[in-house]
Amino acid sequence: MDNRIRNFNAGPAALPLPVLAEIQAHLLNFKGSGMSIMEVSHRSKWFDEVIEDAVARVKTLLKVGDDYHVLFLQGGASTQFAMIPMNILAAGDHADYVNTGTWSTNAIKEAQLLGKDVRVVASSEDRNFCYIPAGIAPTPGATYMHITSNNTIKGTQYEKFPETGGLPLVADMSSDIFSRPFDASKFGLIYAGAQKNLGPSGVTLVVIREDLLKRTPKDIPTMLKYSTHAEKNSMYNTPPCFSIYVVDLVLTWLMDSVGGLDEMERRNKEKGDLLYGFLDASGFYRATADLGSRSLMNVTFRLPSEDLEKKFVDEAGKAGLGGLKGHRSVGGCRASIYNATDLAAVTELVDFMKDFEKNNG
Ligand SMILES: *Cc1c(COP(=O)(O)O)cnc(C)c1O
Repeated sequence: MDNRIRNFNAGPAALPLPVLAEIQAHLLNFKGSGMSIMEVSHRSKWFDEVIEDAVARVKTLLKVGDDYHVLFLQGGASTQFAMIPMNILAAGDHADYVNTGTWSTNAIKEAQLLGKDVRVVASSEDRNFCYIPAGIAPTPGATYMHITSNNTIKGTQYEKFPETGGLPLVADMSSDIFSRPFDASKFGLIYAGAQKNLGPSGVTLVVIREDLLKRTPKDIPTMLKYSTHAEKNSMYNTPPCFSIYVVDLVLTWLMDSVGGLDEMERRNKEKGDLLYGFLDASGFYRATADLGSRSLMNVTFRLPSEDLEKKFVDEAGKAGLGGLKGHRSVGGCRASIYNATDLAAVTELVDFMKDFEKNNG
């Protein structure tokens, strides 16, 4: 394992090492099947056990009952931007959207493309999305309020979710799902592309409440209906078996090895405190997100010049610290420190940053 780097990629991102070791150990012969999990039928008992276990673990972690359906879909979080309004926002109704960055903007655009009535109730665009708006309130008669819980590119995250007075929240949690406990009962729909905090790319987790599922109209394509996938337990067609298997292993690691969401949150806060504490004390590096809105998953920061940022990313890469370049749309630097990135990796990053400052400050 000594040739593995410290991986700060934003997505696809680091997976827990014990999960990778488990995949490797069982790759050629999965549970006595004589096949890998990629080669068994999705209608077999082997895969049935995997998907059942993954569904049960999602429900346990979210503390939700049978009024919520857990789906494993394809098309990434980006397909959900369209599926949500298609399925649950009827003509003549409207939905509230909060715009906190690139992914929220894309979600809004997709809903508008479908001719849906979208009301942007709050936005942080005025300051390049460096904060989460305060005092977000729903409009009368809205069907749902859409938020992006963690803004992967801009490095911001809701500390507290908006008070909606019973209006269901619909949330893109692609980059912070299962990083902390939260009250899932306020959410009508939660979705997350797996490749940040949950597993490999190729599968998207959707958790949808029964009352919203019932809104699925009849006249949309079969594959784009939530009801299709809910009725067939995500196996209407061939699901992404390997990705779902890895998600199940990550959830098992989170519950049995880490010990659950409270401990996961404690570890994530510890990592965030270390890195932000260092950034705030430094006159060389500068964190870009406002206090109170800072993401514990994606830490975005700048150096005094773009030339130094380039040098920083290059030298960090040579020192075995990968993935620190900011998103191409914003520049700067970003350390993605998801669940699978441990305190040792963040400590090593901070040590490297101190040395870089000493040599270039
Ligand atoms: C990465 C990301 C997306 C896009 O996910 P895809 O699975 O690539 O479509 C959407 N929302 C958020 C918050 C993301 O981080």
